[in-house]
Amino acid sequence: PVIYFGMASCGQAAGAAEVRKAVEEALDENFLSAHLINVGCIGPCYLEPIMDVAMPGWARVSYAHMTPAKAKKLVVDALKSGTPPLEDAVGVLEPVENRQTGGLPSFFDQPMLKPQVRIILRNCGLIDPEDLDHYLAHDGYQGLQNALNMRPEEVIEQVRLSGLRGRGGSGFPTARKWELCRAAPGEDKYLVCNADEGDPGAFMNRSLIEGDPHSLLEGLLIAGYAIGASHGVIYTRAEYPLAISRLRTALEQMRESGLLGSHILGSNFNFEIKIKEGAGAFVCGEETALFASIEGRRGMPRSRPPFPAISGLYGKPTVNNNVETISTLPHILRQGADWYHQYGTPNSTGTKTFSLVGKVRRTGLIEIPLGMTLRQIIFDIGGGTEKPFKAVQTGGPSGGCLSAEYLDLPVDYENLKKAGSIMGSGGLIVMDRDTCVVDLAHYFLEFIQKESCGKCVPCRIGTRHLVEILERITKGEGQQDDLDTLEHLAKTISQGSLCGLGQSAPNPVVTSLRSFRDEYEQHIQQGY
Ligand code: SF4
Repeated sequence: PVIYFGMASCGQAAGAAEVRKAVEEALDENFLSAHLINVGCIGPCYLEPIMDVAMPGWARVSYAHMTPAKAKKLVVDALKSGTPPLEDAVGVLEPVENRQTGGLPSFFDQPMLKPQVRIILRNCGLIDPEDLDHYLAHDGYQGLQNALNMRPEEVIEQVRLSGLRGRGGSGFPTARKWELCRAAPGEDKYLVCNADEGDPGAFMNRSLIEGDPHSLLEGLLIAGYAIGASHGVIYTRAEYPLAISRLRTALEQMRESGLLGSHILGSNFNFEIKIKEGAGAFVCGEETALFASIEGRRGMPRSRPPFPAISGLYGKPTVNNNVETISTLPHILRQGADWYHQYGTPNSTGTKTFSLVGKVRRTGLIEIPLGMTLRQIIFDIGGGTEKPFKAVQTGGPSGGCLSAEYLDLPVDYENLKKAGSIMGSGGLIVMDRDTCVVDLAHYFLEFIQKESCGKCVPCRIGTRHLVEILERITKGEGQQDDLDTLEHLAKTISQGSLCGLGQSAPNPVVTSLRSFRDEYEQHIQQGY
């Protein structure tokens, strides 16, 4: 028998470590034995702690909302009878061929999971992230092997044909970025992976690394080979200790298996990967600030040109891609550009992960084909809200607050931009009628203002003014001309700021004012 525990940060926060401890005690007390495996987050965080039991001859049966007492009883019953209890099971996980399922549905047939397309999340919650053999058994490193059998230019062509765009938020075509760097003069080139995920409410990258670190590392090798780099740096936040420790374990395994260092898999490709732990500054998500931080300087953006593809980390040609972009590469190289291109829309191909949080019934980590509407995401996948839906914030603090009139908006880069928001890295915060949008705009602006690096005046001073005005309004001390001042300031900050942080800082105010001006006016007129 094998017992699996969802031991990502979400599972642990819900009590998975206590559940595992109780199971260990139960096995000892009853002289029973089973193989215990920790896995990552499978997606529906609201069901955590999740535990799976795989008995001989049976498919892997999944149980939700485990407590130490429930888990103890369940495991003892299963091991003594040789049959997993079926009453409280949520579903079965693959593989089911030639195995009993007890008539249980697939775990992935649940309403939250059925509309999803799991490409980069396909291993999360299923394999042991600390066991390279698990990854290899799921076609791991085949994408790299395929890439190494091609010329680097052919790898770039595959990525171009796939239509992959940067998942860090900008949506810049990945292959174009790579071509510029590959063509840049100089032998020494760098590949940087932005794993600094700083948006409040966003945890996609953390969950992916915790659940499947080798997919990111395989993607790094593919990208490094394509652009002609021999150094890769993963820049992540020190607040992600579990993700960092799983990456370090995976790197050791790679080195022992000839997947890192010189002549990788017998080729002429040499590559080293380092992890840099950042101090958690939001501005270090901006690539030039991120490079400065890796170099040991204060994380502050600089003006461009020169662009990173020509002069980036240590002044060398550099590609900076985010976790999700890089983790998609093994799948494209394994299954082909055409296969990837079938998902999404013609201009925004493939899938995108989101962390679905807030007032939605089913919270968690999701992956959807681009082009799915906000309504499908929030209501079909998320199960809707208990109280009437009010709005959703996409793109984190620099994104926008979209009201019910945008529910049928197909989610892709262009549509979100047209709606005044951004894709961002993928946080989706759902609000119901009880959420005050002025409070929310104030919260986000306060966050941005504290994270402003202070280099340029419109961002440093302008965001402070925005916060002061919003604070006044939320306290019921707003003045009649405050809304005009907010709009005027927002325009100045957007147009005059040096980097994306400042340029997008006013988005929560601008979009919430557009859809909920009456709520701002009520605060001012009624003085609450
Ligand atoms: Fe710093 Fe803000 Fe200027 Fe960006 S816009 S450089 S965060 S002050």
